[in-house]
Amino acid sequence: MQNFTYEQPLSIAKATGSSGKFIAGGTTLVDLMKLGVETPAALVDVTALPLDQVETLPNGGLRIGAMVRNSDLANHPEVLKNYPVLSQALLSGASPQLRNMATTGGNLLQRTRCPYFRDPVSGACNKRNPGSGCAAIEGHHRMMAILGTSEHCIATHPSDMSVAMTALEATILIEGAKGKRSVAIGDFYKLPGDTPHIENVLEPGDLITHVELPPAIGKGQVYLKLRDRASYEFALSSTAVVAKVESGHIRAVRVALGGVGTRPWRSHEAEALLTGKPATPEHFKLAAEAALKGAKPHPENAFKVELARRGVVRSLKMATA
Ligand SMILES: Cc1cc2nc3c(=O)[nH]c(=O)nc-3n(C[C@H](O)[C@H](O)[C@H](O)COP(=O)(O)OP(=O)(O)OC[C@H]3O[C@@H](n4cnc5c(N)ncnc54)[C@H](O)[C@@H]3O)c2cc1C
Ligand code: SF4
Repeated sequence: MQNFTYEQPLSIAKATGSSGKFIAGGTTLVDLMKLGVETPAALVDVTALPLDQVETLPNGGLRIGAMVRNSDLANHPEVLKNYPVLSQALLSGASPQLRNMATTGGNLLQRTRCPYFRDPVSGACNKRNPGSGCAAIEGHHRMMAILGTSEHCIATHPSDMSVAMTALEATILIEGAKGKRSVAIGDFYKLPGDTPHIENVLEPGDLITHVELPPAIGKGQVYLKLRDRASYEFALSSTAVVAKVESGHIRAVRVALGGVGTRPWRSHEAEALLTGKPATPEHFKLAAEAALKGAKPHPENAFKVELARRGVVRSLKMATA
């Protein structure tokens, strides 16, 4: 299948324009179609594309096909050995049945769980219906974001996998009408600003083909997910940490947060404070303060600020032990 091209699905997608959608595992898309939130004119099934392999790259990194199922990725020997933070994040998400269906590409593109977004009958939602307002800001917003919000949208990005991939500095490979391109995960998701309906840099008809991971910067890796119940629940706050520790000092570290940001949230501020410093609780606390410094909570989700801080401290302690 080396010479396979994505010509057919891409040309169908091009023909349907922005009204068509790729469908992979369907665990996000079919739900939203049943709710009447997504109403694509055409579905292009991409599950038969030869994108279900995990390959080791010459530089020691990993190339993950967009159709690799979440269960297969979580249990892949290379992931378990070199990217345990990714395995932990995947296994903390959804349920075994959902993970057996959900794909790498679909997981990156899952939509927010904001209840107003998912209910087209009641409540204004700028993401679902641009310009209609945001019912969550004055309504129920306990699960919503505290970082990266705008006056137009405070919805949380729900993916666990993408948070781990952010800490691992993944690159997303895309093929579309304009050819192939690759985008660092840090540039892939957009902040809501005044266009919360535009969630990422994909253009109509763009297909995610792979995700590439560079070799991990360190072996100290933890994904810590804090939530209302132990399984089958989205994060209130989560932290992915990848760290290299030598002689008790943090030589390199990556910190990303989930459940609190409008996109998977990398904290360069926390990383800068930790790099070169002794791995001590004092430094972990300073890093946690820095990571949450820009938080803008609303009354129902103000608790997330302290919850996320504690999550950062605890995951740093675990990853550097
Ligand atoms: C009850 C429930 C609980 C859940 N709990 C969690 C949780 O705790 N943590 C978590 O992270 N997730 C959770 N999820 C979300 C789940 O992980 C996602 O639904 C799943 O990963 C989406 O993958 P999929 O292949 O089914 O995507 P699909 O539903 O097939 O597609 C999702 C979107 O991606 C697009 N798409 C798919 N593949 C491609 C591609 N290759 N290129 C371009 N576009 C593409 C589709 O057009 C669609 O817009 C939960 C879901 C449910 C239903
Ligand atoms: S938070 Fe975003 S997704 Fe939720 S109602 Fe407001 S605009 Fe819609």
